[in-house]
Amino acid sequence: MSYLFNNYNPLDIAFEKGKGCYLYANNNKYLDAFSGVGVVNLGHNHPQISKVIAKQAKTLLHTSNWYRITNEEYLGQKLAKLANMQKVFFSNSGAEANETAIKLTRLYAKTKGIDNPIILTANNAFHGRTMATISATGSNKVKKGFAPLVPEFIHIDFNNIDAINSYTDNKNIIGLMLEPILGEAGVIIPANNYLNQAQAICEQNNWLFILDEVQTGIGRTGKLFAHQHNNITPDILTLAKGLGNGVPIAACLGGHKVAKLFTPGSHGSTYGGNPFCTKVALTVLEIITKEQILENVIKMSDYFLDQAKKALISPKIKNIRAKGLMVGITLDKTYSKLAQKALDLNVLLGVNDQHIRLLPPLIITQKDIDFLLTKLKLLLESL
Ligand SMILES: *Cc1c(COP(=O)(O)O)cnc(C)c1O
Repeated sequence: MSYLFNNYNPLDIAFEKGKGCYLYANNNKYLDAFSGVGVVNLGHNHPQISKVIAKQAKTLLHTSNWYRITNEEYLGQKLAKLANMQKVFFSNSGAEANETAIKLTRLYAKTKGIDNPIILTANNAFHGRTMATISATGSNKVKKGFAPLVPEFIHIDFNNIDAINSYTDNKNIIGLMLEPILGEAGVIIPANNYLNQAQAICEQNNWLFILDEVQTGIGRTGKLFAHQHNNITPDILTLAKGLGNGVPIAACLGGHKVAKLFTPGSHGSTYGGNPFCTKVALTVLEIITKEQILENVIKMSDYFLDQAKKALISPKIKNIRAKGLMVGITLDKTYSKLAQKALDLNVLLGVNDQHIRLLPPLIITQKDIDFLLTKLKLLLESL
């Protein structure tokens, strides 16, 4: 009997160690093409990160925000400059970063005299597991049983500009919150100019334009932030997964419209921005530049798509799509035990319904991709 609550359904394997793109258990080696759900973007056991972790552990882990934290101030400045933002709040998970974004919209609504603010979010979007973020989330399985939810979110179809436009007469709308690419829903990539048009509508209507880049951020799509493909800047931006390469840290960044809304005591987090996590995140950003990670993402994305066209020819595949190293493969139907079958072939990947999701470490090489494609081919043949 397990003493863990029954909310997960793990595959029956416990990894013992990791190195680069590979995980090890029971004398077997597995290609990790999922990175712990897009978290370990620089690979497992990255030597520079391991070194910084050890050094910081021997120096200082936690003091709290009752005192200034130098690493937090450095990281805040660095992220704000990179994202063209004014202010940053650090927390520990994607859901908390999104909670912060939602709380900012409430304060913003007060300044506009709106008492019952509504945020538009997308059907099938995923924003987290807290009460406000499941309410924002656009898939029912995340909400089931947890009513009453937090008001008020209206869900619109993703990648549909008319759906957003149809709310411009509603005076209670305060913002639009989107993932640049739907991640948990199976890597759904919108039209190239969707985010540009969505932002323009927000600007015209004085709505806050909020991007949840918890999964798409920190290099995953080949830019540091996915919205940089569109040359736009949101009013609020949230980050988590790749920011700490496995050390829990998240950030909510705000532009000038929201920069002055929080005042001393209005929001906080005990662990948020602690010397340890912020040092690791600073190192992650340093490595992304030093090791030319974004260049590798673009190269490996092109290589994957190119090779996949030749290697993965099967009537079971409906389509393959990628933005950087965020890859979705949609099959003709839902196959059972797909993740287990991939594991049996020494590959880790994500599965949601009929979609296979690949989020390999951004340090992946051509050789690893060749291995991945050989295994994916075998996986499809085994179905
Ligand atoms: C994973 C994810 C979250 C939630 O992050 P947690 O760290 O699990 O709270 C929120 N939004 C998006 C887009 C995500 O992919």
